[in-house]
Amino acid sequence: MGTKGRQIIGMDVEELLGLLNAAYASEWLAYYQYWLGAKILKGPMKDAVAAELTLHATEELNHATLLVTRIVQLGGTPVTDPKQWFPLSPCAYDAPDDPYVAVILDQNIAGEQCAIGVYKRLMDITKDKDMVTYNLALTILQQEVEHEEDLQSLKEDLDLMVARGSK
Ligand code: FE
Ligand code: FE
Ligand code: MG
Repeated sequence: MGTKGRQIIGMDVEELLGLLNAAYASEWLAYYQYWLGAKILKGPMKDAVAAELTLHATEELNHATLLVTRIVQLGGTPVTDPKQWFPLSPCAYDAPDDPYVAVILDQNIAGEQCAIGVYKRLMDITKDKDMVTYNLALTILQQEVEHEEDLQSLKEDLDLMVARGSK
């Protein structure tokens, strides 16, 4: 733990660690949802969609890395048991039971929209209180916003393709 680094935080550090651990649990679930979705995908544009899902999976894992680094820096304990991921995560894990591309895209779009809310709230809470976490949340938020748009744009292409093909 960095003692001075912890001292400069203008909010309850345990509360902050709780929020960081919740986001950390979410990132692992998002990682798996993307990673598995990419493997089982079926339907039009599946190769393009799978490539994007695989990339997003690695980016979600990187968010987990950024969060765990901050948790350790603050003297916290990162969630040690994956069983805790479900109860701690503010965003639902949506099992990819239906492999159709449109369904998988919709599930992941909903996940990104939840993640955007999580990092927006983390920024609101840490603003003027913990610049390091604020900056970290901004870095992740920028990528979640990009993820949402990537998926919505793929979904739009898919919808156009399906609409034209059915004529
Ligand atoms: Fe993420
Ligand atoms: Fe994301
Ligand atoms: Mg992308």
